[in-house]
Amino acid sequence: MERYFWHMSPRQADGMACVVCGADFLTGRITAVPVGRSPADESQVYACKAPCAAVIAREAERMAREMRAAAGVDEVDAGDVTDGEDAVFSIDGHFGSLLRDLRSLTGAEALLATSDDIPTVRFLLGLTARHAEAAMIRARLVLAQTREE
Ligand SMILES: [Zn+2]
Repeated sequence: MERYFWHMSPRQADGMACVVCGADFLTGRITAVPVGRSPADESQVYACKAPCAAVIAREAERMAREMRAAAGVDEVDAGDVTDGEDAVFSIDGHFGSLLRDLRSLTGAEALLATSDDIPTVRFLLGLTARHAEAAMIRARLVLAQTREE
């Protein structure tokens, strides 16, 4: 996850405080997970493993949803097999959506590898299930659309 965090306090930018809640990692007994970078010097910044990292993941998911909605690429639309064949591999077509799902799964894998509290893991598993299912449906749509070619 290489995302920038803005408007941070000096301690947040130095990686000593949570970028979400501002909790101090040196004084509190908090497990920190890397969540992105400081735009000032590219140094790694951190959030509390629970619940703040999950808040960031949820926010990223919401932003991705809004972006998809703005781009007119909605959630899995299994009935939408009538796309022109030219659209099959376009970035707006099922192939583009498939690539985005696969990227989300890669992100979920990275977060799962650093999370071990149950609510965060459950949230990430839900995310994984949704994107894995969407990826399966989209892969099959692309397979169906390319069969005759
Ligand atoms: Zn926090």
